[in-house]
Amino acid sequence: MSANLHDVLFPASLPGTATALTLAGTGGVWSRARLADTAGRIAAVLRAAGVVPGDRVAAQVEKSGEAVALYLACLKAGAVYLPLNTAYTPHEMAAFLGDAEPTVFVGQPQAMAALAPHLPEGCTRFTLDAAGGGSLSDAADAHFPLVESMPRGRDDLAAILYTSGTTGRAKGAMITHGNLIHAAEALNALWGITGDDVLLHALPVFHAHGLFIAINCALRAGAPIWFLPKFAVDPVIDLLPRSTLFMGVPTLYTRLLGDPRLTRDLCGRMRLFTSGSAPLSGTTFDAFRDRTGHAILERYGTTETAIISSNPLIGDRIQGTVGYAMPDVEVRIFGEAGEEMPRGDVGEVVLRGPNVFAGYWRMPEESTAAFTPDGFFRTGDLARMGEDGRITIVGRAKDLIISGGYNVYPREVEAALARLDGVEDCAVIGVPHPDFGEGVIAIVERKPGLPAPEPAALLSGLSGALARYKLPKHLIVQDALPRNAMGKVQKTELRRIHAGIFQDGSDAA
Ligand code: AMP
Repeated sequence: MSANLHDVLFPASLPGTATALTLAGTGGVWSRARLADTAGRIAAVLRAAGVVPGDRVAAQVEKSGEAVALYLACLKAGAVYLPLNTAYTPHEMAAFLGDAEPTVFVGQPQAMAALAPHLPEGCTRFTLDAAGGGSLSDAADAHFPLVESMPRGRDDLAAILYTSGTTGRAKGAMITHGNLIHAAEALNALWGITGDDVLLHALPVFHAHGLFIAINCALRAGAPIWFLPKFAVDPVIDLLPRSTLFMGVPTLYTRLLGDPRLTRDLCGRMRLFTSGSAPLSGTTFDAFRDRTGHAILERYGTTETAIISSNPLIGDRIQGTVGYAMPDVEVRIFGEAGEEMPRGDVGEVVLRGPNVFAGYWRMPEESTAAFTPDGFFRTGDLARMGEDGRITIVGRAKDLIISGGYNVYPREVEAALARLDGVEDCAVIGVPHPDFGEGVIAIVERKPGLPAPEPAALLSGLSGALARYKLPKHLIVQDALPRNAMGKVQKTELRRIHAGIFQDGSDAA
């Protein structure tokens, strides 16, 4: 039986007249029928360009109704969709395009000239601008929609997403139709998403969170989407009273909290706020609950696995934990020798299930290394699982700091620092230290509008909360931390910048 995600997202039971997307700003409305029709036309354009199932279609485009239709068209035509961050430079794009060898590339008109030399020979190009115009839309208008979706099995590829590449060479995670069908259906059941919901969509659509979680869940459920070109406080404040569901990353919540208009009344119709992609601090969780009455539901996932675990919809959403394993997903905590750790002990999160990707594109060795011999995907995240099955992430394995022989989990130090006055956000990293092997240092982002906290005051604030060996030996306060498009702090970059701090042998604190 075919398991084409496109057809799962457009079941015959949902009326075409219902709204799929409303573009915030222009107010343009895309009914489900219009979205499906445009997707069908673009699918016909792709076919005419020679795309056969399994071919890659790469896109570096802004958010628009047509951009969503392009993604759906790829599914329909059996192509493998390859969304690329609009912030990538031509130099970065060259590596992705060379690796993925797309048959079709869709780009922003103004970027085409710089990208042309990096496109593989024979690659057909189309343009798509932020307003949805360009040669792709012109071609779509001139084609009749492809009627039947290409039959696809659950293991057939739907997309390749390059993992952020902050840790070295970027890897293309191969995501299947089956992975995405599982994610959308399991999350809709778990979070109670139905056609009565209205999703406020402010995330980018070149990342798994904004594309595969937010869009797929809403389309599958028949929930209309307010589609924001990008996150900004004003339109979110404007649309919250007319929404029920918001999916965010922690920085979006801290930015909303910075606006006094965020109140309980404003969120009166809201049913659920979720957070993922990076750890949500206790301060943000508490402040958001105080202001709006909503406990943000934190969940945990990776590009390779969609959602791994989630706090419950009904029942306690416990700050600092990422909840229970998703249904059908087997999550274990493994020690270094591949043994399962006792409940409560820290180890690496590994998992098996229908959500787990098919490996890295054209990287057989990395793909093999990403799994244990029993077929569990190794996330590289360190966590503990409580007796009740709740998972608490303590950091990335590669971020674990070993200082003087002691393990320091950055998350624990970050959580303690985040509770102190004047701290907006922080990152705790280990850098080479002549005596200790690695020395713990903290980089603090000051809270805007308040006096910058003194490093000495912060260190003394920590000393009551943490054992001495965990305390930063050096603490820097600055205006902002380096972040990627999902708001994730770039620790690799911080480690590079601060690598030499202890090299003169002095203890900088
Ligand atoms: P990405 O593949 O870019 O989405 O990054 C996945 C990584 O983000 C995971 O391996 C975790 O390290 C981190 N992550 C995602 N969600 C959470 C969360 N709720 N809490 C802590 N870390 C998270």
